[in-house]
Amino acid sequence: MYVIIGQGAAGTAAANTLRRLDGKKAITVITRETDYFYSRVDLPDIIAGYYPPSAAVLQTHERFAELGITCRMGETVTAIMPDKKIVRLAGGECLEYEKLLVATGSAPVLPPIAGLEAKGVYTLWTMAQAEAIIRAAARARAAVVIGAGLIGVKTALALAARGLTVTLVEKLPRVLPRQVDAAAAEIVARRIAEKGVAVMTGTVVEGIVTEDGAITGVKVAGQTLACELAVVAVGVRPDAGLAAQAGLKVRRGIVVDRFLQTSLPDIYAAGDVAEVPDLTGGYSIPALWPVAVEQGQVAARNMAGRKTAYTPVPAMNAVEVAGLPLIAVGDVEGGPGDDILVAARGDNYKKLVIRDKIVRGVLCLGDIRQAGVLGGLVFRQAEVRSAKRLLAPDFGFVDLLAM
Ligand SMILES: Cc1cc2nc3c(=O)[nH]c(=O)nc-3n(C[C@H](O)[C@H](O)[C@H](O)COP(=O)(O)OP(=O)(O)OC[C@H]3O[C@@H](n4cnc5c(N)ncnc54)[C@H](O)[C@@H]3O)c2cc1C
Repeated sequence: MYVIIGQGAAGTAAANTLRRLDGKKAITVITRETDYFYSRVDLPDIIAGYYPPSAAVLQTHERFAELGITCRMGETVTAIMPDKKIVRLAGGECLEYEKLLVATGSAPVLPPIAGLEAKGVYTLWTMAQAEAIIRAAARARAAVVIGAGLIGVKTALALAARGLTVTLVEKLPRVLPRQVDAAAAEIVARRIAEKGVAVMTGTVVEGIVTEDGAITGVKVAGQTLACELAVVAVGVRPDAGLAAQAGLKVRRGIVVDRFLQTSLPDIYAAGDVAEVPDLTGGYSIPALWPVAVEQGQVAARNMAGRKTAYTPVPAMNAVEVAGLPLIAVGDVEGGPGDDILVAARGDNYKKLVIRDKIVRGVLCLGDIRQAGVLGGLVFRQAEVRSAKRLLAPDFGFVDLLAM
């Protein structure tokens, strides 16, 4: 029997692949959520009211049943016992496995801010949390979003789209610090402000103000931002506690080899929880939806006995923020000694980071027409002869022939 912990992108991709490769063996997917597999990426749009929660469902109860995959919904795995090859559920029931996949994903980080337990303070990772935020937003006039990473920015814009007065507070000097460089962040921050969100960067949250256990404000830089709702979005971490308790090798995430096998036999890990070999020869956690799907599929192949190596890919983000398309591939920051090429015009921004004649990073904001061809250079680790030509507005696939 195959057992998968987690019914997210990695867990569901693994279950479907296992069924394709093995029509007979029992497959059980356990998740502590009660919503069938849905797109987390769409949660901000659901909060904004652009479409209903049902539109985010990617695989229904009926489809799991058709595939003969047993879903244990609303169940939490409390222990993995590798010596007995069983997992234990919160109610005490134990399930045996031949091969186990840990696909427990990420969990939001809570910063050490006093008052986060107050009513009206939320994090955003699950559909249930999105629905709770929608209910709270219906009663609120003002909201504060703490953290201006991708989830924070999208949530702030979503709440503004619902008509709330929104302030986005970020400790670092710029928005999207992990996705873009300082110049692009300035453009994005301006666009966010144009959508009605007040942006406060370089600002530390000092505490939550409450009355009768409910939030009434957020203290920042000597002032209180009055609000009835706050969303904490300061980052996520791999949900690897269960694996660590079971004795699997864990650093930030569960350490796996190229075959996504953990340090213990017959146990694999995939998705946001897995710390995988990367292109630099080290290990990292991509924490991206398409990568989680790919890893789930690769892990499943290995669980089914078809030895398949995972191919690491450069970090990549393709999103739209405040009406601006953004594609970032690889190292978009650059460092000392790198050649950095920039073309900026209005809200359009293009940047290339070249190290040792190899394109290491590409950032396209606004005009993303060349993001495919330029991003491809990062994936191919292509060597470039004429770097300047890369920024030409007509650089395209024909140029690749000459490279
Ligand atoms: C608002 C938002 C926007 C995002 N935007 C983007 C984007 O634009 N691009 C992008 O690439 N990625 C984006 N992401 C990240 C993306 O959603 C994740 O990379 C992806 O969901 C990871 O999939 P996963 O299967 O590894 O883990 P998860 O989706 O986290 O699924 C893990 C599941 O395991 C369950 N679980 C954990 N522990 C247990 C246990 N002990 N017992 C039972 N069940 C357990 C969890 O409840 C969860 O359901 C976004 C995420 C959010 C929340």
